[in-house]
Amino acid sequence: MDVKRTELGQLGEFGLIEHLTNGHSPRNKSTIKGIGDDAAVLDHENFQTVVSTDIMVESIHFDLGYTPLKHLGYKAVVSNLSDIYAMNATPKQITVSLAISNRFSVEALEELYAGIYKACDYYNVDLIGGDTTSSLKGLFISITAIGQGEKDKLVYRNGAKVGDLLCVSGDLGAAYLGLQILEREKHIYKDFPEMQPVLEGNDYILQRQLKPEARRDIIDQFAKSQLVPTSMIDVSDGLASEIRHLCHQSKVGAFIEEGSVPIHPDAYQKAIDFQHDPITCALSGGEDYELLFTIHPLDADKVKFMPDVVILGEIVDKNDGIHLHSKSGRRHPIIAQGWQHFSNS
Ligand code: ADP
Ligand code: MG
Repeated sequence: MDVKRTELGQLGEFGLIEHLTNGHSPRNKSTIKGIGDDAAVLDHENFQTVVSTDIMVESIHFDLGYTPLKHLGYKAVVSNLSDIYAMNATPKQITVSLAISNRFSVEALEELYAGIYKACDYYNVDLIGGDTTSSLKGLFISITAIGQGEKDKLVYRNGAKVGDLLCVSGDLGAAYLGLQILEREKHIYKDFPEMQPVLEGNDYILQRQLKPEARRDIIDQFAKSQLVPTSMIDVSDGLASEIRHLCHQSKVGAFIEEGSVPIHPDAYQKAIDFQHDPITCALSGGEDYELLFTIHPLDADKVKFMPDVVILGEIVDKNDGIHLHSKSGRRHPIIAQGWQHFSNS
């Protein structure tokens, strides 16, 4: 197949930025000035401004061996927007900064930006700037998301109180299992290059890994039911690790019921196939981008009728610790098992 390849050098830095960003005009009225000046100008009027930033490094956070660049662009935006939703706020703008090695062509970056723009369209945010530089090796992407929220409706990690109910949206562990499938196929391919990857029949879990969505719909539900959670965090590093963050910040303990942890049937089956414990995948897998939040017990009726939200457990005194109540009636302490990129233990 003849694939067109334009070297980055042919366009130069300014040409490249121009090429990647022209035609993208702001859609939000809070974006006063987007790309093209020394700085962007925003006006969030009476709202408070919420800002979150993340950096993604090739081979640490993503593997281009099985991640299409368009998906990478989409996911990089979504993971940032998820942090804004986790404040019960609405994302409005993003900036995208890149360090790129000359291994990448202009066409490759067009693919990355196609994913970025797709997410911008879907979530109604404006790309308002960024920075572009070269790297000796690999691709680095840093995205900053900016959003707005009403002062008394922003939800922090530190608001959970004893007696509050702990809730989570969607289902957990599937993205981790999707990653296991992609890693497995990559290794098989390395050893037996003539073999074709076996990806069929795993649509749901692969989608959860390669094209996750942020839970804007849950934030909309909160607004509709006039519910303001007492605390909230997005599940990017695994349920166990997020519960611990929430409890640590709120100075409380918690328990969750094993039987209430939502696991998609496809993820459950795939965990068994891999000889993993499904509950461990749900607790320690990452990149689900669901919302974990607590509510006052008087608001229980409001979440009972919310689609795709379950009550997992309860907030207890700090001295009672953080536990999983197993189906067999045992109490297991929940220990930190989030992804630790720097861990060498
Ligand atoms: P400066 O020299 O002031 O850093 P640049 O030439 O880097 O300006 O950027 C010119 C404009 O293009 C700015 O508005 C900047 O925010 C935007 N920009 C630069 N890189 C990117 C990128 N990768 N994606 C989107 N916008 C970008
Ligand atoms: Mg610059």
